Amino acid sequence: MILAAAIVEFSTAALLHNARTAREYAPNSKLIAVIKANAYGHGAVQVARILEAEAEVDAFAVARLDEALSLRDAGIKKKILVLQGFTQIEELTIFHEHQLDAVVHSEYQIEYLENSQINASLSVWLKIDTGMNRLGVQPAQFKLLLTRLRECRSVADEVKFMTHFANADDRQDRKTQQQESCFIETINDETGQKSAANSAAIIAFPVAHYDWNRAGLMLYGASPILDESAQVLGLKPVMNFYARVIAVQQLQKGDAVGYGGSWIAPKNMCLAVVSAGYGDGYPRAAKSGTPVIINNQQASLAGRVSMDMLTVDLTGCNDINIGDKVTLWGDGLPINEIAQSAGTIPYTLMCGITARVRRVWL
Ligand SMILES: *Cc1c(COP(=O)(O)O)cnc(C)c1O
Repeated sequence: MILAAAIVEFSTAALLHNARTAREYAPNSKLIAVIKANAYGHGAVQVARILEAEAEVDAFAVARLDEALSLRDAGIKKKILVLQGFTQIEELTIFHEHQLDAVVHSEYQIEYLENSQINASLSVWLKIDTGMNRLGVQPAQFKLLLTRLRECRSVADEVKFMTHFANADDRQDRKTQQQESCFIETINDETGQKSAANSAAIIAFPVAHYDWNRAGLMLYGASPILDESAQVLGLKPVMNFYARVIAVQQLQKGDAVGYGGSWIAPKNMCLAVVSAGYGDGYPRAAKSGTPVIINNQQASLAGRVSMDMLTVDLTGCNDINIGDKVTLWGDGLPINEIAQSAGTIPYTLMCGITARVRRVWL
């Protein structure tokens, strides 16, 4: 087969390992695999099929109805939570037909349920805003809204409760504990299953392990915790992003490299031109010095990333040839490090791999 200029190889073994690891962190909770945004760029159907076949998770979560429908179309049978719930009354029939769980986060959704004529018993999660101030009903309104929800004929008997943490990636941040207390105090003596933890809280905040946890980033093998490596946390990268050397340049001291000539060779040196750029999803903001692995040797980015290429300082590398494999992130090169060097987070890098990149599951 012709080698791809830019390729992501996904590891089934790493995905299963990370799902098991998420379970080990929280052995008494059920696990929801968050596969929104095309499973953070990994391919939602493929990820769901693997996890469903191996019975490594109890449910899936996506952000929107369309994402859930693609999974049902692909034959995914497990419970699917739609994290934004329904946003139009007409959607209620579809939630019912496809057996989708709806998050109810706003009063208007309860009005839709009250006004709907559908003959259904929808599975509903009432989301409480405990301090993120994005989606969720206010604690002061909780009792009243829960009562209204329970009176809806279209709602299944047991309403579940959820909340979402804003700062759980930082072990020192006290807001997570405040949100957790607010969640429990708000629910008070109401019975119903609960869910609070995202990846960071699964790892760092065991008091928030309730009936269901929602793992996203950790499933894909990046670290959800500030300044802690995925490897130390027991996670393995699922996504390996590779490109190839397509040219080698001999530079003289003072030569300017790339657009804007922002990088100037500090000495006579060799430069590799690598076949991936921001048009493939490599971040343009990655600074010179960002690590890459080239033919199993550490090297670093030199000069601006362009659309189809990036350039690498070969100082200290031996025997680099046309066609050599270049790791941009993945095994041996944590995506967290690349994200940090580009002033972003691993989530955006995973989501940003573009359509032209070849994808292979191993
Ligand atoms: C995206 C999302 C998650 C998963 O977050 P990770 O940090 O990727 O684990 C969990 N819950 C909700 C409500 C989300 O939107």
